Amino acid sequence: MSFPTDRLKANLSPERYYSSNLNGSWGKPTGHGWHLWNGLCPFHQDRRAGSFVVNRTTGAFKCFSCGSSGGDIIAFHMKINGMIFKEAFKKLQEVSQCAQS
Ligand SMILES: [Zn+2]
Repeated sequence: MSFPTDRLKANLSPERYYSSNLNGSWGKPTGHGWHLWNGLCPFHQDRRAGSFVVNRTTGAFKCFSCGSSGGDIIAFHMKINGMIFKEAFKKLQEVSQCAQS
């Protein structure tokens, strides 16, 4: 089984993924595709927004409070759902295919 991650990412933009999977909205740009997320970090007991940034282009994410980070939406999906790569990829592929039709 292969994992065409490029195709998945082309079908499911980080922009759309994060908008529907995180509470909050896109915040101010911090440069090179990075935006502050106007919401709480999903990986720690965040009480004050302002530490979680997301790259709209690559899907990478990073929290400056707890240090959680990853390189794309698959990494985010694995981390937040406690999934292994294969599970996360399969789930996101379903999501991207549903969204297309
Ligand atoms: Zn955090």
